[in-house]
Amino acid sequence: MKNCIFCKIIKGEIPSIKVWEDAETYAFMDINPTRPGHMLIIPKKHVDYIFETEEPLFTKLFVNAKKLSKALKSSTGALKIGLAIEGIAVRHVHLHLIPVNNVNDLDPCKSKKGNIEELKQMAEKIRKELKD
Ligand SMILES: [Zn+2]
Repeated sequence: MKNCIFCKIIKGEIPSIKVWEDAETYAFMDINPTRPGHMLIIPKKHVDYIFETEEPLFTKLFVNAKKLSKALKSSTGALKIGLAIEGIAVRHVHLHLIPVNNVNDLDPCKSKKGNIEELKQMAEKIRKELKD
């Protein structure tokens, strides 16, 4: 879709720090992380609203989020990985995967600009923990 920042990321028109991808989904670091390790998983196809996402893509997003959450949890040592979906700021379905230790760790007001080198190192760390 034209002018969609995530569609541009998928096409490589806007750079991103990729963690992982398969044929239908793409995972990358959030450049304004709420917590260290904050990443996003998105469908490669433009879909506006999570509950309008058709099967099998809907299930695939959550299956892949689960797979990524394991690697994210072990690489950050977080108590759990939280999941947030709103899709207001960018109208392309995206699941926020955020390492959490406390009740307010998903608060988007806590997000701040990340250091690109640190984000790249984190992506590498998560990738090393990824197993099939
Ligand atoms: Zn899009």
